[in-house]
Amino acid sequence: MSKKPFASSADLGNKTETLEVLADGVYALTAEGDPNVGAIEAEDFIIAFEARATPKAANDWLAVLREHTDKPIKYLVLSHYHAVRVLGASAYQAESVISHEKTKYLIEERGMQDWASEFGRMPRLFREPDGIPGLTKPDIVFNDRLEIPLGGDRGSLILEHCGRGHTAGDIVAWLPKHKILFAGDLVEAAAALYTGDAFHFDWASKTLDKVKAYEAEVLIGGRGAVVSGKQNVDNAIEQTRGFLNGMIEKVGEVHRNGGTLKQAFTETHTLLEPKFGMWPIFEHCLPFDVKRLWDEFEGIDWPKIWTAEYDQEVWDQLQN
Ligand SMILES: [Zn+2]
Repeated sequence: MSKKPFASSADLGNKTETLEVLADGVYALTAEGDPNVGAIEAEDFIIAFEARATPKAANDWLAVLREHTDKPIKYLVLSHYHAVRVLGASAYQAESVISHEKTKYLIEERGMQDWASEFGRMPRLFREPDGIPGLTKPDIVFNDRLEIPLGGDRGSLILEHCGRGHTAGDIVAWLPKHKILFAGDLVEAAAALYTGDAFHFDWASKTLDKVKAYEAEVLIGGRGAVVSGKQNVDNAIEQTRGFLNGMIEKVGEVHRNGGTLKQAFTETHTLLEPKFGMWPIFEHCLPFDVKRLWDEFEGIDWPKIWTAEYDQEVWDQLQN
């Protein structure tokens, strides 16, 4: 068997990026399974949701947004700490960068290692990597909920933590007026889940229950197409839960029976591949996902820090 190229290191083709205006002043840019970003227009300013991997990648998105509005960006909201979501922050020249307090903590704790790890895994996303000035430092943090009035008759944007999920500090952005939810990486629309820093049991149960309870009409997941219509939104949430529960079932079974990590990977792959194998980054994610879930079954609550070296070690052990 030939060696599988590491993570997404061989996947270097550009994805088509599509801007969708979801309601007056509500924008989403999707990219065929690459990380999505969004923006919400207030009366006098813009709130950007997610920063992208580099200032160059961020500026490419801002150039598209600037065809619709020239208002200044007051707030940049980070849904979570992952490098491909935060390292482009400087391009926004935002007054403030907002995140969950755990996101700020995780950037301080492991931001440098995560930068190297994600650059190795997904070089495609790091356009002009030398332009990254350093780690991103949120200056407004919160724990549960933060409401930003948008002015005029635009209503509010609600930022909320739904519980531990894809990371310890994910937040969603909710527009009650339009029933539009930016879910970050807590929900993926027909794209594989990355769960290497996740809390699988919380995520698959009460966290996704809370995401579902918004009863959104439009959902923008972390990756994949915009999902429209309540039934389709529910389906995307349940697909995400199905991926998690499939992993929990199989990794748990192998762990209980005294099997090995490698067995857990192979059996989980066999279970999930027919249903999810065609989704972007499935092969890339699964070794890291299974390793983290295995650790959770071992009683390790706080995720281990991925480094470029540790990534390679787990990859070689499981994918080759
Ligand atoms: Zn992520």
